Formats: sequence, C-alpha cells, structure tokens
Amino acid sequence: MNLLPLAALRAAFSGRLCTDAGDMSAFLTDWRGKWTGRAIAVAQPDTAHDVAAVLRWCQQHRVPVVPQGGNTGLSGGATPDVSGAALVLSLTRLNRVRRIDAVNNTIEAEAGVTLQQLQDAARDAGRLFPLSLAAQGSCTIGGNLATNAGGVQVLRYGNARELCLGLEVVTPQGELWNGLRGLRKDNTGYALRDLYIGSEGTLGVITAAVLKLHPLPAAQVAAFVAVPSPEAALQLLELAQLRLGAGLTAFELMSDICLGLVEQHVAAARRPLSEPSPWYVLLELSDAQDDAHATAAIEGLLEAALARELATDAAISASLAQFKSLWALREDISEAQGAQGKTIKHDIALPLSRIPAFIAATDAAIARTFPEVRMVVFGHLGDGNLHYNVSPAAGPSGPGHEAAFVALEAGVNRLVHDAVAAQGGSISAEHGLGVLRRDESARYKPEVELRLMRAIKAALDPHGLMNPGKVLAIDAGEST
Ligand code: FAD
Ligand code: ZN
Repeated sequence: MNLLPLAALRAAFSGRLCTDAGDMSAFLTDWRGKWTGRAIAVAQPDTAHDVAAVLRWCQQHRVPVVPQGGNTGLSGGATPDVSGAALVLSLTRLNRVRRIDAVNNTIEAEAGVTLQQLQDAARDAGRLFPLSLAAQGSCTIGGNLATNAGGVQVLRYGNARELCLGLEVVTPQGELWNGLRGLRKDNTGYALRDLYIGSEGTLGVITAAVLKLHPLPAAQVAAFVAVPSPEAALQLLELAQLRLGAGLTAFELMSDICLGLVEQHVAAARRPLSEPSPWYVLLELSDAQDDAHATAAIEGLLEAALARELATDAAISASLAQFKSLWALREDISEAQGAQGKTIKHDIALPLSRIPAFIAATDAAIARTFPEVRMVVFGHLGDGNLHYNVSPAAGPSGPGHEAAFVALEAGVNRLVHDAVAAQGGSISAEHGLGVLRRDESARYKPEVELRLMRAIKAALDPHGLMNPGKVLAIDAGEST
C-alpha cells in the first residue's frame, strides 16, 4: 500500500499529477518498447518553480525521480525501474519559447519545447537552430541537452553541448539555479552547465536553456554519391572539406544493404542511381548565396571526385522535393531495419582515420563468429559516428529464428565493443548510457574516471534520488 502523502504533492505545484494506471502507461514504456517500468505517479508541472516544489517533496520523502522529456531516448534513460518506487517527472508542459535575441543570436526556451518547435521559432526569426534528428517532432530540448544529442549536422554546428550557452536547473534538493547566461565567453569557475549536459537526468533537472542560433542558409543542396569503399568516402570527405569549407553541413555514410532495406520497406523510396555500389555518401551543402552557386560548387566537387575515382556516380538534388527524398533514404534506415525484424544496435564513435580498418576487421570477425547475421552499417561519417547495426541474415524467419538471433546479442556486443575500445573509440556516441550501456561503459572506462563520476554524483545527489541506476550503477552514489 502506498503511504506517501500524494495529496501534499498535488497541493504543492500547479500542473497535472496522475496516478491512474491507464493515464500513466505511456510514460512507463520507452519509444522502442524495450523497457517498461512502474511508478507511484507521473507529475507534469507547469513551471520551473513547480519542478522545484516537486523535487523538494521527493527529497523530503526520499522518492526517486525519473525526468522525462519526449520519451524518444534509445537507452532506457527515461523509463523508471519495475519497483514502482519512483516518480516520473514529465517536462512536456514547460513548453514556452521565452525569448529570442536576434542580435546576440540566442534563443531561450523551456525544457519541454520540442526540437521542431524550437527550429520553427528560430526560422520565424530568420535564424537557424541547427540541431536536427529524426525524432525532432517529439524529442524535447531538455532531453536533447540531457543526452547531448547529435544528429545529422554535428559536422558543421556541433552537438547539443556546443549549441548551449546557458542552463536553468533544479537541483535534487529543489533549488532553482538560474545559469541562463547568453555568453560566448565566461570563465568564472567550474563549468556547471557542461556537467548537466549529457548527465541524463542523474544530477538535476534542466528546466530551460539559452541556445545559439546561426544564419539561415540561402540554399541547400544534397548529393547522393556512390563510393567504392569507406576509405574512398573518407578521402571524399577531405576533398569536400577543402572545397566547400564550412558550407559542408552533413556527410553521411550508408552501405548498399541499408539502401536495399529502405527500398524494400519504405513505399516511396526509389534508388537515385542506376547501378548499385557497395557504399554511398549523402552530403549536404548549405550556401550563403543561392541554389545555382550551391549546385555549381557541388558539381565541381563531384567532378574532381569522379576523376580521382573516389566516387563512381552521383545524383544532385534539383528541388526541395528531391532534397527531401534523398535525405529520406538516410533517415528511413532505422525504420526499415526495424521492419525487417529484430536488430542489435551499436552507436559507436571512432577516430575517423581508424574507421575503414575497423569496419573491415570487425565485419570479418562478425562473419566468422556469427554467420547467421548481417551488418547494417550507416552513420554520421563526418563525426566518426557509426550506427554499426546487426540484423539476421536473409533466410528462414519466424519466432524460433528471432529468439536465436536475440540470444546472440551479448556476444555480438562484446565483440563489437572490444573492437571499438581497442581502436580508442566510444561505445556510446550520441544516445547516452541510460541503462542500456551503463555496465558495458563501466567495463571500458578507466577506474579513476568512474571514481570521479561517482564523486560528482555523490556530491550533488547524496541520497541517489535522481534517475537512479542510469549512467552509474545504483550503489555508485555511495562513497566507498
Ligand atoms: P527522453 O527520452 O525523455 O529522455 C532522455 C534522457 O534524458 C533520460 O535519461 C531522461 O531522464 C533525461 N531527461 C529528459 N529531459 C530532461 C530534463 N529536462 N532534465 C534532465 N534530464 C532530462 N539521438 C541523437 O543523438 N541523434 C539522432 O540522430 C537520433 N535520432 C533518433 C531517431 C529516432 C527515430 C528516435 C526515436 C530517437 C533518436 N535519437 C537520436 C534519440 C533521442 O531522440 C535523443 O536522445 C533525444 O535527445 C531524447 O530527447 P527526449 O526529450 O525524447 O528525452
Ligand atoms: Zn545517429
């Protein structure tokens, strides 16, 4: 029986508090349906002061808190555990864009504003907010910052961390910290902002942020380029950076298997090139002049690439519709892979120079050890970030085969992550640790790094109430 004074909590803040199982269910399962938990209630406060009141109540009654934004995270960070002891704190009602300073090129927004809403507000003010990812209609700016989200334009504009100038945070004790400074230079002590960014709700709750804006490009052109190998793709990247400079805003890699899956599972998808190629690059140029200038620059680049045999064929977008349909081929890969059946996913980062050798050696090791799978490799090559995914090999399917594939997950993960660690890479590039990669990350991190992380957690959240069990294992907040 629940003896917590929920009536006192209900009275303490303005917003919704729901305890009905049906109303709560959408908040208790993650976007992929991989994790389901339980909660004493879901609180949906209206303001930062309401968030502070909720956290004070949680601190007083030692109730764990699971912050949640758009619930699109892929690592289980926003789902409570099955104990039913935690309160889910949904930030979606903190959804106001507070102000835009066009001269300072900044926008201040509350945590529950969706990424799409933020992009639209910036565009209405004649500015670009460049963070861009497939979940942007649902994910929130608070969630983007809490996971330090990446996406497709990191190459040019950086990830969420690099786009954030200031934060407003509620501490686990329920104090409101106003760090909403729109400053590009501020060396006045420890970088608390950067501590909260990427902390996945384990140190406090982000309630608002000041974010950087950029000029809107006058024109954008995409090219879908057939390349013979990842080595050639990297040489094409070097050439593109040399010729296009900061105009190169995206550089994505995908294998022919990815394109085949999209063609098979997405009705509108069409191959843009007549001949298949083992690999493709999707690159994007954002131009300050106009379409003709952008197209000429991309044509010049591709002529040089064809002459050097870094590319074998290419299609260039000639309209907004073509631009979008080329991008859809890249953005629909996850969905197409999901439609094919069970998947084993890896979100890895490597030094760019090591990527070709990593792919060759790891593909071969996987083929030797797990002949019943095939690789579905794509990602943000310009950032050294691959979605190095695994699907069942083509062949008989059905529940028995699916179960056999799922049983391979731990072994496949170990093989891939050992290879990543051996190449000096990271086993979570943009999706965070949550619960999914918590223990594996601890396996590869130096002990001193883990100890420093635990010390920070213990200092800011001594009772271990903020998103327990995410990023660090549950007893990690206690000093040893
Ligand atoms: P949630 O899922 O609600 O929460 C994520 C984590 O942040 C949890 O640990 C939660 O506790 C914490 N949190 C949320 N809000 C706050 C807050 N206000 N204060 C403190 N902690 C908080 N990610 C990428 O980086 N790049 C991609 O390209 C990308 N593509 C995606 C495509 C699809 C189709 C999907 C479904 C997801 C994709 N993601 C991608 C993952 C996901 O969209 C991002 O991680 C996103 O930043 C999560 O935002 P959210 O609001 O949904 O956060
Ligand atoms: Zn990605």
